[in-house]
Amino acid sequence: MNLFFYHNRSVKTPVVFGIILLMWTISAQAQTFSKQNVKLYDYFNTFFIQEIPVKVNGLPLKADSVYGLEKVKLTLHHKRISDLKIQLQAPNGTTVWLTNRNGGLEGKDYIETCFRQYGKDGLVNTGKPPFTGEYIPDGQITYLNNGSDPNGEWKLLVEDLKSGEEGFLDSIEITFSDKPAFMRQKKYCSLENPGQCSCGIKGCELLPDLVVVPYFTQKQYQEFAFDDQVYPGQLKISVAIGNIGMGPLEVSPDTLLTGGCCTIDSSKTKTDKRYQLLQKIYSKSGSSFTSRTQKTGTIYFENKPGHQHYHVDDWIEMRLIKIIKGKRKLMCKGSKVSYCLFTTGMLYEGNQSSLINGKVFGSHMLNYGLGNYYACSLAKQGISVGGYDYYGLMYEGQYLQLPKGFKNGNYILEIEIDPEHKYVESNVRNNTFSMSIKIEKQN
Ligand SMILES: [Zn+2]
Repeated sequence: MNLFFYHNRSVKTPVVFGIILLMWTISAQAQTFSKQNVKLYDYFNTFFIQEIPVKVNGLPLKADSVYGLEKVKLTLHHKRISDLKIQLQAPNGTTVWLTNRNGGLEGKDYIETCFRQYGKDGLVNTGKPPFTGEYIPDGQITYLNNGSDPNGEWKLLVEDLKSGEEGFLDSIEITFSDKPAFMRQKKYCSLENPGQCSCGIKGCELLPDLVVVPYFTQKQYQEFAFDDQVYPGQLKISVAIGNIGMGPLEVSPDTLLTGGCCTIDSSKTKTDKRYQLLQKIYSKSGSSFTSRTQKTGTIYFENKPGHQHYHVDDWIEMRLIKIIKGKRKLMCKGSKVSYCLFTTGMLYEGNQSSLINGKVFGSHMLNYGLGNYYACSLAKQGISVGGYDYYGLMYEGQYLQLPKGFKNGNYILEIEIDPEHKYVESNVRNNTFSMSIKIEKQN
């Protein structure tokens, strides 16, 4: 299983080796920490995160690729789990999504749901309730094995984002072992390890290339009737933006304008302002990285339920098109949707989602995994090489509003990334995804 793991520990003397061996023996045992029986609150009509602490102690002082978090197991009862966003937070504050608003309109319960980096039952957002089995979470638990101390208070963070149902957490179990969640890479190219990274065909400037990952949109959309009580005339659509380029997409606010606000993680600093963003473009120069920045879009604090963090403006646009007498006619255009840019998942050859435009993407990609983006902070956002940023159809704002009186029939759904062409990419000709779609619940 750990074929691609490198252990960079150099051993100088037999004494040191003996100590390391002893530490290894202690640490190699899997250890599970848990919490049981917690009532889960309903939506309070205001932003609220329920924090469920899990005490962890007696572990090695570093969670990394050698020893760290392996899996998280969850059992909870809730009559409508798509109300729930559930995250796991490490003692140092690093937070990842386990599952966010999955289960569709009527799904109930998570029963013995185990989250692992390479869960054999696939992505949790493509699974079915009650999700009994081993799933890949909506975020990347590998980010929790970042070298920080795992001892201390972990927190399960539960947000109920829609009123009407409350739930009950039977148990949460967090397991640490010598099979930690870690990204499988052919070469450990990273911003800290430029020597393992490659130049592009056209030179050493490493540009991102953004595409819609077709699998999610093709499998996950739902039309609501014009007279639906809750979502009238909405066409809800999952969209994941993948980066198949040679370099990461990375943006951060112009610190000249923000007054240097953003050197630390500012995900909890709420402001009403819009900030100018700079895109950082990396180049490989010998065995190190250089970079340049370019003025690009804007970022603001999004306070819709389930978000409460910073979003990049005008990130995608959704449209319905009809071909009339061979001509393309725009029938309906949504307002532009803003996104928090972060790597929620990695394209991986073992998952169906890795097929894009007839080509399989995954760990064989040059510079796979380059760039780490796991927070919706003001400080820095982006999408790693080979990573994608997934927005599920139940997320607030993730829909196309069909106008009153919209005619049923066959249409082409188009989703365009960066419709205002503000971000630098190696290929902007593959930014629009399209598929045929049947509208049948309107007029
Ligand atoms: Zn958001």
